[in-house]
Amino acid sequence: MRLLLFIFLLVPALATAQQYPAYTSTYVNDFADLIDAETEARITEMLQAVERERGVEMTVVTINSRLEYGDFASIEDFATGLFNHWGVGNATRNDGIMVLVARQDRDMRIELGAGYPPVFDDRVKNVIDHYFIPWFRQDDYAHGIEAGVAETIRRTALEFTDQGYTTASRLKSEVTNAVASAKTGGLFSWIFGALGLSSAGGGALLFRRYLRNRPRHCDLCGRRMERLSETSDDAYLAHGQTVEESLNSRDYDVWYCKHDDHVMIEGYRNWFSSYAACPDCGFRTLHSQRTVLEAATTSQSGRARVDYDCRNCTHQHTEYVTIAKKSERSSSSGGSFGGGSSSGGGASGSW
Ligand SMILES: [Zn+2]
Ligand SMILES: [Zn+2]
Repeated sequence: MRLLLFIFLLVPALATAQQYPAYTSTYVNDFADLIDAETEARITEMLQAVERERGVEMTVVTINSRLEYGDFASIEDFATGLFNHWGVGNATRNDGIMVLVARQDRDMRIELGAGYPPVFDDRVKNVIDHYFIPWFRQDDYAHGIEAGVAETIRRTALEFTDQGYTTASRLKSEVTNAVASAKTGGLFSWIFGALGLSSAGGGALLFRRYLRNRPRHCDLCGRRMERLSETSDDAYLAHGQTVEESLNSRDYDVWYCKHDDHVMIEGYRNWFSSYAACPDCGFRTLHSQRTVLEAATTSQSGRARVDYDCRNCTHQHTEYVTIAKKSERSSSSGGSFGGGSSSGGGASGSW
């Protein structure tokens, strides 16, 4: 009888033995101390940018072992539980993303909110295998996490929220209105530029390629149009557009109807170009150079100077930006998650 009572007392004790860590920041919780202050500040900047510009909450967590928090069977178990405990992402869209690295377990997981279709699982698996793990194998966690987070943002948050990912109306909105779309991309452009991650981000978007290559019909006569080659289309492009093409910041297709000489120009923004839209001429030809003046520490935010110069016109200007303070474990840097949930989507990897 006494033994039975003891068991009854023990069972609830075991059940509550699983305790998730409390977050001190919604961006980076480096519980295992794998990331140096400067790298953490850069990662925080990226995560703040994706939240500000796309409304997507993405968070990075490092731990030594899931077993420090209870008897979790697997990294998947722990990641899904932690994600839902914290409520990462918008509660309606369920678009949160959690990058979890367990150093001692040599396991990592990217947990995706329930709003992501399964195709994103393969995408983050690819990012884990090619951007995180190679660095982790060399014991360079900070580098791997920074590179991996940048790539994860590109392949999940940006593509997920890219208007037109699910609708074919994308093409219409893309057509040469450089300025409107440039505004949201400028910051990412220089962040990725500063990281040295340039040019097209792999294949992946077959859907986008299909939209771009599908046949066009002439507005005037309805006949099929032909796409001019990259060399012969220059005659139809403005000077700024040819500069964009040479900088690889924007690519143009010129569709031509030989029946009535009708021309249709479609512009495709390169998301990963470091060139932003110029406030004077409007083309994506604005080059930026970021110089850190004061690095951020745990007690102070840092400062950087960004010099802009346009490769198409004579525009130049300089801006100063604050580098986020490295978050300290004990002090909450404010903010809380949006109450999103995961149904276990995402991918894992080991090294
Ligand atoms: Zn025609
Ligand atoms: Zn310009």
